Amino acid sequence: MERESHLKRAARRMTKQKKTILEILRSTTSHPTADWIYAEARKVLPDISLGTVYRNLHVLKEDGEIMELNYGSTYSRYDGNPQNHYHFVCVNCGAVRDVDMPVLPELEKRAEEVGAGEVFYHRLEFYGLCPHCRKEKRM
Ligand code: ZN
Ligand code: MN
Repeated sequence: MERESHLKRAARRMTKQKKTILEILRSTTSHPTADWIYAEARKVLPDISLGTVYRNLHVLKEDGEIMELNYGSTYSRYDGNPQNHYHFVCVNCGAVRDVDMPVLPELEKRAEEVGAGEVFYHRLEFYGLCPHCRKEKRM
């Protein structure tokens, strides 16, 4: 019994941490890194560790609540919107923004037509200069 209540306490704590991390991710469109999420989470839960943040990000990703974005850079970014959508990556400042256009299912059909295989989904990123960096370059 003693053990069970200890486990229940641990589970409840985990749930609170998980909920906090999810709320932080859903409140931003900046596609933050784990370090940024950790800094924000500490404002709410001062005792939380970076390892706990990573563990919960992994669980949230496995549960389909969030997406992990990895564009071959050294660290991942996280997205509170798990639905497929397109991104724009700034090659100058590294900002990742959502692209406000519908996902194109015909791309998957085309890939199948040219013999790629049975396509389940696709991901798409655009690369270039974000509006801020573009303005700086012009000056
Ligand atoms: Zn930029
Ligand atoms: Mn996004």
